[in-house]
Amino acid sequence: MKKLAKKNKYLLAVVLAALGVTILFVCLVVGIFRGLFSKKGDVGKPEIDYSVIQVAKPEMQEMYLTKNINSRPGTPLEKVRGVVVHYTANPGTDAQANRNYFESRKEEPDDKGNKVSSHFIIGLDGRILCCVPENEIAYASNVRNADTLSIECCHPDKSGQFSQATYYSLIHLVAYLCDKYELESSDIIRHYDVTGKKCPKHMVDHPEAWTGFKKEILAYLKKSKIENK
Ligand SMILES: [Zn+2]
Repeated sequence: MKKLAKKNKYLLAVVLAALGVTILFVCLVVGIFRGLFSKKGDVGKPEIDYSVIQVAKPEMQEMYLTKNINSRPGTPLEKVRGVVVHYTANPGTDAQANRNYFESRKEEPDDKGNKVSSHFIIGLDGRILCCVPENEIAYASNVRNADTLSIECCHPDKSGQFSQATYYSLIHLVAYLCDKYELESSDIIRHYDVTGKKCPKHMVDHPEAWTGFKKEILAYLKKSKIENK
């Protein structure tokens, strides 16, 4: 009897150990698969919960370009997957002047037209002009033209740093677009992140200005919480 009890104890210990090893193995496999197949934001809490956020639409003027092959081709933008920030590289010029430049592209012959435009331009005083509707592509961000909205920002001097008014409008506009299209922080990019071009210059020269800007967007979104959306 004593021998049998000892044997049973031994068996129980073996079964428990096997069970423990199996559980550990399953946890490990599940963990690996979640890591392999999950996209950003899948694991744990999402970065931004848009069900409780509503950003008011910033004041903006619709001044759409005339449809033309060099700045407003009328090509549908099927799904907005990001926002690209630019600087005009035209120190001291305002939103209207840059919009006029885009509009003037229609005069260029089709075969050697410099294809350039942007969905939005933010002026030195923070005024936002809409040049291309959000459901059409603009010519600003190279391979990302097909799935992003572009924002050109005016700047007072060669450093490319935005005025406070431009900067605040940019934060508001980007936060609004993030909410509207439910974008993640990683979907907010610079032209530099697409092509390596030094655009927007100040935010490429000073990476901390870019990370600071993205933090401000998150803070803006988080403070735009509502009770019932
Ligand atoms: Zn650019």
